[in-house]
Amino acid sequence: MNIINFSAGPCQLSKSVLEVASKDIINYNQTGISICELSHHTELWKDLYKETIVNTSEFLQIPESHESFFMNGGGTHQFSAICCNLCSSRSKIQVLVTGFWSQKAASEMSKFCKVVVVNKESDLVDSCEYDFTYYCENETTIGFEFRNGLNFNPINHFLVCDMCSILGSKIVDIKKYGVILSSLSKNLGISGSTLIIANKELLSYQNRENIPIVMDWAPYLNLTGPTPSIMSIYMTGLNVKRMIERGGLQYYDDLSLVKSNLFYEYIDNSNGFYVNNIPKQHRSRTNITFSVKDSQNISSLFTNKAKLNGFIGTAHHPSNPDKGCRISLYNALELDELTQFINFMESFKIDFEKNS
Ligand code: PMP
Repeated sequence: MNIINFSAGPCQLSKSVLEVASKDIINYNQTGISICELSHHTELWKDLYKETIVNTSEFLQIPESHESFFMNGGGTHQFSAICCNLCSSRSKIQVLVTGFWSQKAASEMSKFCKVVVVNKESDLVDSCEYDFTYYCENETTIGFEFRNGLNFNPINHFLVCDMCSILGSKIVDIKKYGVILSSLSKNLGISGSTLIIANKELLSYQNRENIPIVMDWAPYLNLTGPTPSIMSIYMTGLNVKRMIERGGLQYYDDLSLVKSNLFYEYIDNSNGFYVNNIPKQHRSRTNITFSVKDSQNISSLFTNKAKLNGFIGTAHHPSNPDKGCRISLYNALELDELTQFINFMESFKIDFEKNS
């Protein structure tokens, strides 16, 4: 049976990328060794790293004002690393909490500095009291997105943004941000590392206190750090090349809107059989939560049946109190695969209504 993977991350990868990777796992670039055996001291690795950074910058349209690099560890690692690199224990920061991931970030950051939590964008304050404002552009667990970023555009401090589950699916004006982070386990690649995009001016920040080496951005920036997570960066290199060939960021911006609009339209027209509770202006284009007949039991029945039909990863995130379903529509998930899933949903609905 053909499997279609709707997981939120790690997520579906394109078959063509996996085919190249499977060859390189045995014999990378005719070297006779596996990509997993490649030493990070070799020119081959340094070239691969540089090429991946160049292609990622091209794909994401990263401006000259910003530097990008990969760092070991996932998005969670950066909740602490951001504080270690950008502020001191005397700092005060503002965190907009809109869901599970920004809440987690706020708790973690409060171990390093004073955190002021705000729950509504309109309550954010543009004050030089704060070193920065932090928010999450797309809350993966509930599927809540700031579709056009924040309207809040501070001039007295900078913005730090978690774009883990949205970067690469829409055009973003990177110039507006001090720092953007995205773990590689979604659109970009596989788990193991995180992409950090930072305004160059922030990277010369002097107020750094005794940063533990595993939190310090500097050794990753100048490639003198611990052994890099080679496989996740290598996979990102393959993925990004493919995404450029397919039409780049504009193509995926359009495609993610087509896919998510199609899906929301289907559930909105299901006469309440499938329900999404997120306000329309905040509906995510990459992670969509829904319940079946507003019932936890029927939603579980649905995810089990979906699995039997080859559609995996459709259950809710463990933290979501709605306990329904969730699908993720990242870039490697094709429109045709979504259409197959919608056809399955329709036949589930018809069968359910016939039998009840
Ligand atoms: N932020 C968001 C929005 C996420 O979706 C995730 C992970 N799914 C994280 C942060 C944490 O990333 P990681 O699991 O790589 O630590």
